[in-house]
Amino acid sequence: MSHTSFDPSLAYAEALDANDELAHFRNEFYLKHGTIYLDGNSLGLMSKRSERTLMELIDSWKELGIDGWTQGKYPWFYLSELLGERSASIVGAGPDEVIVTGSTTSNLHVLAATFFTPTPTRNKIIATELDFPSDIYALQSQLNLHDLDPEEHLIRIKSRDGRLIEEEDIIAAMTDDVALIVLPTVLYRSGQLLDIARLTMEAHARGILIGFDGCHSVGAVPHEFSKWDVDFAYWCNYKYLNSGPGGVGGLYVNRKHFGRTPGLTGWYSSRKDKQFDMEHALTPAENAGAFQLGTPHVLSLAPFIGSLEIFTEATMEKLRRKSLALTRYMMDLIAHELDGMGFTIANPQEDHRRGGHVSLEHEEAIRICRTLKEEHHLIPDFRAPNIIRLAPVALYNTYSEVWQCVQILKRIMQEKSYEKYENKRGVVA
Ligand SMILES: *Cc1c(COP(=O)(O)O)cnc(C)c1O
Repeated sequence: MSHTSFDPSLAYAEALDANDELAHFRNEFYLKHGTIYLDGNSLGLMSKRSERTLMELIDSWKELGIDGWTQGKYPWFYLSELLGERSASIVGAGPDEVIVTGSTTSNLHVLAATFFTPTPTRNKIIATELDFPSDIYALQSQLNLHDLDPEEHLIRIKSRDGRLIEEEDIIAAMTDDVALIVLPTVLYRSGQLLDIARLTMEAHARGILIGFDGCHSVGAVPHEFSKWDVDFAYWCNYKYLNSGPGGVGGLYVNRKHFGRTPGLTGWYSSRKDKQFDMEHALTPAENAGAFQLGTPHVLSLAPFIGSLEIFTEATMEKLRRKSLALTRYMMDLIAHELDGMGFTIANPQEDHRRGGHVSLEHEEAIRICRTLKEEHHLIPDFRAPNIIRLAPVALYNTYSEVWQCVQILKRIMQEKSYEKYENKRGVVA
């Protein structure tokens, strides 16, 4: 159904659910009865298939012991490569350009250590002032390792409105002294999707390498990293990709960089057939596998096997279509039902500029989030100082849940029930 046929009734939400080609995937997930989960952008829910593959790998340890590295249904020695091949289409990469390894932050360190090679004249890194802090800390420490002062050498593009970063402003900062650009695909607070193709083209036209943090888009937004010629990317698999808490991360390296020795190495950087020769001279893998360090976290890879089956069946194209429809519907309802109640939609309105979540600002955001959770069993997430992030996820959320969410918000505002909560965030929020 198209946007123009919007109607604020519950019957309309139910009709959208009845017409949803992805609706059957909801049964694949463990949803808590009576709870509306809208936090899949922080931690995706557990699927039955993930539970199955986790148990299969636990069994492989039980049954095979050391032989599990090379035997069983999913030999552990090749599992990072297998999952890289299977997740490549999600980011638009060749099967050997993706490896599932490390964490977002450790992967950024490995990639920055490889692709940031400052010279006396080109020695700056571009990021943004709205970046996730871990990325900034990592880039600051990489500069420190080169004896470069982050105050001077880390350029953080300013936001004009505190929410969005304009591509023009990033391009204007691409001067001759910039060696590397590291940007989010989708900004974690406002949900803005940057124009990755354009930024990559502009960076390359100036001889600058560019990489992306895909944490808030991979699994929600399709990418074409190879076609766009992105140099590298890294992301976590535990948000939209539902690989479980602490699930192993993913990284992409453009094949034109294969053969470049990684800036940080370990024995898993080796060509697989050479690794057990145990030589002290490393022969790096001639693919993204070279960017691994040590032994893979097998039990934290296991749930991702099952989760990826679901993505292969659902396809990113259909997932994106539904995700956009869900967030559009949520924004329409917010505009219709919550007008005059102090809410501001902070994410861009255009489909090509937004990711998978709605970013709702309110000066009482903390207390509203607590009321949603404690009184209404609706799980949002709060980002200081004033953002309620709501992520209706295409695989397991419904239009009816979005409708209920907006009705609950309306009731909380009308009854002012948030007033009885303290204006204080939790440790994890
Ligand atoms: C979630 C997230 C991270 C988390 O990094 P970890 O190393 O997985 O803890 C980093 N960057 C962004 C943009 C994120 O959204």
